[in-house]
Order: sequence, then structure tokens, then C-alpha cells
Amino acid sequence: MQAAETLYMVIPCYNEEAVLHETAARLRQKYTDLREKQMISPESRIVFVNDGSKDRTWEIISELHAQAPEFFSGINLAHNAGHQNAVLAGLMTVKAQCDMAISMDADLQDDINAIDEMVAKYYEGNQVVYGVRNARDTDTFFKKITAEGFYKFMSAMGADVVYNHADFRLMSRRVLEELANFREVNLFLRGMVPLIGFQSCNVYYARAERFAGESKYPLKKMLSFAVNGITSFSTKPLKLITALGFIMFLVSAAAFVWAFIVKLTGHSVDGWSSTLCSIWLIGGVQLLALGIIGEYIGKIYAEVKQRPRYIVAEYLDQNAPSDPDKS
Ligand code: UDP
Ligand code: MG
Repeated sequence: MQAAETLYMVIPCYNEEAVLHETAARLRQKYTDLREKQMISPESRIVFVNDGSKDRTWEIISELHAQAPEFFSGINLAHNAGHQNAVLAGLMTVKAQCDMAISMDADLQDDINAIDEMVAKYYEGNQVVYGVRNARDTDTFFKKITAEGFYKFMSAMGADVVYNHADFRLMSRRVLEELANFREVNLFLRGMVPLIGFQSCNVYYARAERFAGESKYPLKKMLSFAVNGITSFSTKPLKLITALGFIMFLVSAAAFVWAFIVKLTGHSVDGWSSTLCSIWLIGGVQLLALGIIGEYIGKIYAEVKQRPRYIVAEYLDQNAPSDPDKS
């Protein structure tokens, strides 16, 4: 194997005071092993991105960095930018210092032992390595059903994603540089990374339960994530409207013929119920169509504003040129 390369782990954290110490301890152990095995360089770091937490998360991150700067770095975002933006903020901030970066959630649901295999796959020439869950035994029944429905629905709607892959993935510096060219505001990293291309592969692992604390992704956020993924990645809903419109046209043509026959045969009724029904039906379909079109217009609006997607308030990292405690 060639000289060990530099791995940066990017961990988004939103109100994660309950798990941070444990996550840090386990990752530190993992880094020690990987350094001993000469799989990663001594410059490799674990970077916690504080996504505008309201608890002691940033204080803990700063302490970790102060105690062991050779392991831990921290990025403090100026406000809560959301999971996807926090991951991107981390990746873009560290890309100048690393050869490869792995993004992972803070709650230890992803198996850190998969990191060895991910790094090995990187040395084999893969530019992207997707961490893929092979079981969902530990998720609640409800989470399992909604999450599986999520992937099926996404791909049915034309936004192709790696099945059962969340945001546990390794990317090479080359891929990060390409990712930097994606200027979109509505981030959906799982859809974007496959678009970049390059050689990639999957690494399988069992997903564990959240170590401590509560899920920051309740159903409401999951649904909006799915809607965001679909409308950011496909125009299939627009095509469905067209199809629906066509079917409606056929139905109304048939209804017209039927009404005409009824009229001719002299059995015509007062027509109140059918008129009312069609008004409701057409009104509903129109509203639905307008709603979906509005969804896209809302996105165009957000994109044309070209707002920064995140703001880094502070970056604590020994290897960064701007770090105040660089030794
Ligand atoms: N997270 C974040 N910003 C947010 C919400 C979540 O950075 O606004 C982080 C969170 O700290 C965790 C990861 O995103 O590291 C995934 O969140 P969570 O584990 O709550 O989601 P779930 O696994 O339940 O889908
Ligand atoms: Mg989680």
C-alpha cells in the first residue's frame, strides 16, 4: 500500500450533547487503530459540525478540540442550516485538508467498523463508497415502513437514489471538488453524489439504534425531505399532471356523451348532483396541479436568490491555515 492518506470524518451535530462524548471516544479509538495500521495519515481528523444547537454541543466540541487537537476539529455554523447543509458545510470546509472524507451521523447508528472497509475500497480506486444498511431490525416498525416507502416512492417518482443508503459515505477529494460546483440551494446529497459519477461501490453494514437522545428527523421532516428530493431531482410530477389531465379529458368526454344520450331519451334529471360533483372534482384536480407547479416555482425562487447555503462562524482545526491554536 502507498503512503497513508488523510481522512477527515464530517459529523453533523444538532443538539447531540447526549451522544457526543461516546461518539468521540469510539471514533478516537477507530482513528488510533487506523493510524497504527497505516491506513490513514497522522493529519487525519474527526470534524464535528455544530448545526446551531441549542444545548451544550458546541462547548463539548470545543473541549474535545482543546484536549486532543490531533484527533478532533470543530466547525460552528452561525445558525441551524439543516442536516444536508451541515454535511455540505463540513465537507466543503475540510476539502482542502483531506484526501478523502466520510460523512456520518453523530448518533452512532452507522457502524463505525465499516470505516475500515470504506477506506480500503478507496485505496482500491473507488472515488465514492456508499454505506448501505443491510437490515433495519433495530428501527421501530413505523420508521421501517416509512423509510422503505421513502426509497420506493422516490425511485417511482424519478429521483434515483442508492437503496437504503443515507449519508454515511466516503468521497475522495476529487469528488468533493466536483461537488463544490453544484450550486443548488435545495440540497439532496444522496441524489447529487451519484450524478457526479466516478468509480463507486457499496459497503454493507447493520444499522444500530440511536445511542442516546431523540431522532431529529420526525415524520414531518422526513416527508418534506422526500418532497424536496423528488422536486429537486425530477420533473416526473409535472408529467403525471399531464397524464392526469388527459385521463380527465377522456372521462369528461364519456360523461358528455352519456349526458347527451340521457337528454335525447328524455330521461334527463335535474343534474344537480353531477354538476356539483364535477365542480368539486375539477376544482380538486386544478388545485393539485397548481400546488405541484407552485412547488417548482418555489424552488426556482430559492435558486435564483443564490443565497449562501451555510455560514461558517468558526473553524477549529490544527491543519487549517487559519486555526488560532496551530502549533
Ligand atoms: N442534524 C443536523 N441538523 C438538523 C437535524 C439533524 O445536523 O437540523 C444531524 C443530527 O445531529 C444527526 C444527523 O443529522 O447527526 C441525523 O439526524 P437523526 O439521527 O436525528 O435522524 P434519523 O437517524 O432519526 O433519521
Ligand atoms: Mg439517526
